[in-house]
Amino acid sequence: MFTIEEAKQKLAGKEISSEELVNDCISKIESGDGEIHAFLEVFKKDAIAAARTIDKQRVAGEELPELAGIPVALKDNMLVQGHVASGGSQILEHHVASYDATVTRKLKNAGAIILGRLNMDDAAMGSSTETSHYGQTRNPWNLSKVPGGSSGGPAAAVAAGFVPASFGSDTGGSIRQPAALCGVVGLKPTYGRVSRHGLIALSSSLDVIGPMTQTVADAATLLRVVEGADPKDSTSQNPSETSVAELLKLTDIRGLKIGIPKEYFISGMDPEVEARVREVITLLESHGASVEEITLPHTPYALETYYIIQPAEASSNLARYDGMRYSMRATGERLEDVYLKTRGEGFGREVKRRIMLGTFVLSAGYADAYYKKALAIRQLLRQDVDAALSRVDVILTPTSPSVAWPLGEKFNDPIAMYLADIFTVTANLTGHPALSVPCGFAHDLPVGVQFIGRHFDEDTLFRVGHFYQSITDWHKNSPL
Ligand code: GLN
Repeated sequence: MFTIEEAKQKLAGKEISSEELVNDCISKIESGDGEIHAFLEVFKKDAIAAARTIDKQRVAGEELPELAGIPVALKDNMLVQGHVASGGSQILEHHVASYDATVTRKLKNAGAIILGRLNMDDAAMGSSTETSHYGQTRNPWNLSKVPGGSSGGPAAAVAAGFVPASFGSDTGGSIRQPAALCGVVGLKPTYGRVSRHGLIALSSSLDVIGPMTQTVADAATLLRVVEGADPKDSTSQNPSETSVAELLKLTDIRGLKIGIPKEYFISGMDPEVEARVREVITLLESHGASVEEITLPHTPYALETYYIIQPAEASSNLARYDGMRYSMRATGERLEDVYLKTRGEGFGREVKRRIMLGTFVLSAGYADAYYKKALAIRQLLRQDVDAALSRVDVILTPTSPSVAWPLGEKFNDPIAMYLADIFTVTANLTGHPALSVPCGFAHDLPVGVQFIGRHFDEDTLFRVGHFYQSITDWHKNSPL
């Protein structure tokens, strides 16, 4: 599949029309997605119609916006007006969006064609896309393995070559971890850089929307399109000034200071994964980056802190699904029965587990011991990362402690599943931007390396990620 950069050139040079590009995606999905199940729905009619409109404008010589005629697909928790947005949940099975998310609107304004909606874990809780009410997604590199999660659909769709790029959401790693397991690029922008308006909320202080692409250059292009302050999301802020073209001209990393946190090279991690990540370090060092060991001392508490704050906020956000609004309503004699039955039937097991956990840590008797303690540790984690990034330009870690595992292996073991997020949750708790880039294979499955940068300094992540891709070919491998 073309990258966005390539598709732009071919469209501009009239070597291919947008309709042809969209039809190519659709035929690949029709022949390959039966097994993978990345898409929940392809917006075939709308996509072809939008492509034809752009093609006509191009033929007429009109000036076209940045992504004119390029198909992208969205995780099923981003609203696209007139289409179902289920968030992977039964409770929202028939929920039709009455407006576009800000990200959707910005993509449409940039001329992108919204190709469809992609599978995800139930309510974006999970690391394997197995909790989706609509069936699991499989890893295109090996159909007996998970694609990671919760953005397993967006990762698999790009890896399988169904679409040049997609968007996921990342609350604790859900863009980066599936990107690593499927061998694509995944960016979790700085908290607040991309508006969350029209994203089905999971945990509001952690959620971020970001691109999943084949190249770092494409991730930079897409971030520029969707970022920026939005009056409809009070946490959103203004973007940076550097153009992508300017940024990608910086093809030299001499003098760049890279910090390697010793707490991220732990026992229990797959030694083959560690070997691939260490190879990245050696390679970057040989090109002039300076590498030093750093410490992020509160790292051992990050996962516990995440699994207190995340369920606490989720339990509150999910309270709105009461059977009165939004799609599903069970029947019951009394109002209370309707509430209980709707929530009892409409939420999956993992979602119920988190609601109970979240309600517990927020309850009057326990909030001080758990929730407030977690908030305090969150501050310490942030101080750790900020202190490290005052000495180095970027922090390098593995994205995931393992490669993709067999379907079903961790499904009934929530703690094992939670451990898959061990290297990704910190950046959500601290708000820092983080980028996962494919860096080779272990056991014939993709491995990802993670770069964490200063707040709102995605540019440095792009610079190092793009440099790495310019001297390696891992991102050019394809499973099919
Ligand atoms: N796997 C993590 C969780 O289950 C991350 C989820 C996410 O980022 N949406 O909470």
